Amino acid sequence: MKFRPRATQHIVNTGARMRAVKKVQRGPGFEVGTAPVPQAGVDEVLLELKAASLCGTDLHIHAWDEWAASHVEPPLTVGHECCGVVVEVGEGVEGLEVGALAAVEGHFFCEHCLMCQTERRHLCLNMKLFGVTIDGGFAEYVRVPARNVWKLPPDTPPDLGALMDPLGNAVHAVFAGGDVAGQTVAVTGCGPIGLMAVAICRAAGAAHILATDVGTYRPGGRAALLGLPADVVKLDLAEQVILKGISLHGVFGRRIFETWYRATNLLQKIDLTPAVTHSFALEDIDQALALMHSGECGKVVLAP
Ligand SMILES: [Zn+2]
Ligand SMILES: [Zn+2]
Repeated sequence: MKFRPRATQHIVNTGARMRAVKKVQRGPGFEVGTAPVPQAGVDEVLLELKAASLCGTDLHIHAWDEWAASHVEPPLTVGHECCGVVVEVGEGVEGLEVGALAAVEGHFFCEHCLMCQTERRHLCLNMKLFGVTIDGGFAEYVRVPARNVWKLPPDTPPDLGALMDPLGNAVHAVFAGGDVAGQTVAVTGCGPIGLMAVAICRAAGAAHILATDVGTYRPGGRAALLGLPADVVKLDLAEQVILKGISLHGVFGRRIFETWYRATNLLQKIDLTPAVTHSFALEDIDQALALMHSGECGKVVLAP
């Protein structure tokens, strides 16, 4: 019989409140308010937030564009890139202890559907998205399934811990469709993930790396598509893909957990510190979002 450790004492009383950045209703904007401190249930842990970072997804939800209106059902706490310390371990959790520093894989997969059972958890048919379809990480405490927790070396700076999520996007995109060693790589789009992709390509032994902000077509190449276009994109499959022998790879999230292993190993070879350009308090989320809109920043991080 499987050993199931007893539930630990909850660290705060039922009814205690915490600060959280919330999408309160359908429409533009966020509100910094309070929410009940969650408690770790069966197979869950509670993290005390140490750092969180802002992502293009948060901008979509803040602006309440078409994509957000069709995916997000307020009210909920937003944010999905975060790093925290385990403060409560729920019943049945093994291999995670109070005090561990951890990042969160924000795609909450079910483990039972066809995709999950065939090693494609990032495409789970019952996926819940942290900070998009369920309460997320811009809060003082976050409750997550233990299987979505990625333990970090204890000396990892929390800012970099939060960046494991977008770093994973970059790793997944760079290696989608094969290796890059000895190859010429073009990175189109030099936001934080594009810049991370440049560093990853260098660490992985790419021969030449070209980074631009304008897309061009390259015969015989392969393209890993990650950022979401604002509109429907028309593509001439015959002329622009088939006759040029192009491989297109749609990249969603990270491969769970193959990408996390790869990203953790790459962290020893690349320095992500310059990617973080600004840091704000949780309350100053509006200022942080305005800065992201201006485009005059790299990765923007929130600290509780
Ligand atoms: Zn993100
Ligand atoms: Zn699934």
